Amino acid sequence: MTENFETRVREHTALARFDPLTKVLNRRGFDGQMETAVTNAKRRGSPLSVIAIDIDHFKKVNDQHGHHVGDVVLKILASAMKIWFRETNIVGRLGGEEFTVLLVDTDLRCAHQVADQLVAHVAGTIFPAVGRITISCGVSRLCIAEDGFSALRRADRALYRAKSDRCNRSVMLETEIAV
Ligand code: GH3
Ligand code: MG
Ligand code: MG
Repeated sequence: MTENFETRVREHTALARFDPLTKVLNRRGFDGQMETAVTNAKRRGSPLSVIAIDIDHFKKVNDQHGHHVGDVVLKILASAMKIWFRETNIVGRLGGEEFTVLLVDTDLRCAHQVADQLVAHVAGTIFPAVGRITISCGVSRLCIAEDGFSALRRADRALYRAKSDRCNRSVMLETEIAV
């Protein structure tokens, strides 16, 4: 009885923190982990970088192939990211076709390289029923005097630039004083 109750509490907690479709962290789960990561980075003086990822022209995938096929693309992409990023890094689905990754102990240049490689990897992948899709990435790094949300906003601005520069690329935004 107690064991059963504990299992249900555990499941309930997991549901509140993970996205059921892709099994990566949802916004609530991501925010919680970000707080810890930011505290640790500042205490240890180690770099923390952010990659904001958005699927290019995803609406077209849904329109041409149906919502179910779009869902499968999201699942495959999320699984690829879980393998792609080290286990210590934090992957979240913060919007419909938008993912965010925190890279611990990783500086801006290194995070930009990782993002470039991910963009190329996705562009070279064949997705079932759909064929090829591309993603765009924005990269930023946590500064001394800011919180995680502010670094996230900068990654979003970088992503916006990648989008306005024909997509299928990653853009990083430099900051003056990094952690
Ligand atoms: P852009 O290149 O500018 O990012 O264009 P886009 O079409 O990717 O972006 P837009 O914001 O116009 O559309 C996002 C689409 O993502 C629309 C919505 O239907 C789809 N979407 C959001 N969540 C889900 C989901 O859980 N499953 C599926 N299949 N589609 C989703
Ligand atoms: Mg989007
Ligand atoms: Mg998009």
